[in-house]
Amino acid sequence: MNIFDSIAGRVADPEATAIETPGGARITHAGLIARSGRMANALASLGVAPGDRVAVQVEKSVEAIILYLAVVRAGAVFLPLNTAYTPAEVEYFLTDAEPRIFVCDPARAEALRPADEKAGARVLTLDAAGQGSLTEAAEGAAEDFATVPREDGDLAALLYTSGTTGRSKGAMLSHGNLASNALALVDAWHFTARDVLIHALPIFHTHGLFVATNVVLLSGGSMIFLPKFDPDRIFEAMGRATVLMGVPTFYVRLLGDARLDAGATRNMRLFISGSAPLLADTHRAWQARTGHAILERYGMTETNMNSSNPYEGERIAGTVGLPLPGVEILVTDPETGAPLPQGEIGMIEVRGPNVFQGYWRMPEKTAAELRPNGFFITGDLGRFDERGYLQIVGRGKDLIITGGFNVYPKEVESEIDALPGVTESAVIGLPHPDFGEGVTAVVVPSGTPSLTEAAVLAPLESRLAKFKLPKRVVFLDELPRNTMGKVQKNLLRDRFADLYR
Ligand code: ATP
Ligand code: MG
Repeated sequence: MNIFDSIAGRVADPEATAIETPGGARITHAGLIARSGRMANALASLGVAPGDRVAVQVEKSVEAIILYLAVVRAGAVFLPLNTAYTPAEVEYFLTDAEPRIFVCDPARAEALRPADEKAGARVLTLDAAGQGSLTEAAEGAAEDFATVPREDGDLAALLYTSGTTGRSKGAMLSHGNLASNALALVDAWHFTARDVLIHALPIFHTHGLFVATNVVLLSGGSMIFLPKFDPDRIFEAMGRATVLMGVPTFYVRLLGDARLDAGATRNMRLFISGSAPLLADTHRAWQARTGHAILERYGMTETNMNSSNPYEGERIAGTVGLPLPGVEILVTDPETGAPLPQGEIGMIEVRGPNVFQGYWRMPEKTAAELRPNGFFITGDLGRFDERGYLQIVGRGKDLIITGGFNVYPKEVESEIDALPGVTESAVIGLPHPDFGEGVTAVVVPSGTPSLTEAAVLAPLESRLAKFKLPKRVVFLDELPRNTMGKVQKNLLRDRFADLYR
């Protein structure tokens, strides 16, 4: 079924607010549906046919959500792009995806024109206020649009991965992938039409687009749509909202704000974190300050969400919880693919209606990562604890092999992060003449008194086996992160590549 039909079919009160903006604009569920019909008609008259890609690089706006709905209604494939991408980067995506239409900010249309022309896409504009040639084209169009019927396996979106470990890959997501996962989350997180979500995430990524938006639209609730993370607006919104979805940096930054306490979060029923690891310390500090246990979940572009800490039941810091209903998770031997006994660290593999249809135009990569039996090899390493909760240990690509021994960076990072004077750390492997890779700690000190290499290493000696000890400690003011708050270890590896040479 077309995911739009699922959304439209679940609207309980058409006149209830679906989205409100800080500027005071409100759009109802009926309004969203009507305007998506106009926009779908506009797209169809611009030549968008079922299966065509519609690429979009725009600021966050209600119109961008309407565009998403219009594209899926037209049976086309929604392809959002990170607003931080430069014209040269956009050109790569357009050439790769060959969209029929490319919607971009009017301020960038000129710079992007050569890329569009090369890719043969027609350019339309949409600005942060929702104005542009796309909106103009939709204004005169009819509201009624016969939503194009789609099978569960038909594509709804082409979503590029964050590019944390290398070049972004286009994950092909079907209507069934998106709807099944969003409905599982509505149930798991007890979403209803009474919920008001604080939406402060970007909408070019699975977290803000599919997790947040689809879950709210499929439960008939509403969103307070903030252009970006802004503590003042979050505190203001918490007075009347019920749920916040954030990346770990949201929670770290809110904890640094004196206004955060039980009173400020009194109206809220749920805080959800994902996209990057939430430090157990952050989880505990949040609970101590607000009384709320943050609910951490685990997912990725290719699979939507795989596991979640329980709504009822214990939310365990440092874990990503239990497999979602309908989703199978295995921990396997990375060499042989054989399932490992409980407790052992291995490759996380996932199977379920949430798992994508393959990488766009990368049949070899798809074949290498998607097993014939349906399991997707995620590239993340993890283990199940005694209670069946999944712990993410890190990415396979970040595993350090030093002198023939495996070192999981997370284990060393946890020890370093617990030291006084440390804000956070990233442990990486760097080329080393004797050991193959040398374990290296990149540490962000928390300030005075200034930290020394010896002060970091000394306490670790009694805590970690010798081969796990960093050979060097380097200090940085902050770790490089991408827009989703993910630490870019590849940049650190490049930067310090010659440390042992
Ligand atoms: P690329 O695949 O291009 O290298 P990426 O994997 O960062 O980029 P995304 O699909 O946005 O792109 O991110 C998914 C990854 O984010 C997961 O594979 C996992 O490594 C990480 N992740 C998501 N949620 C969590 C979490 N709760 N704890 C730890 N890691 C998480
Ligand atoms: Mg990935």
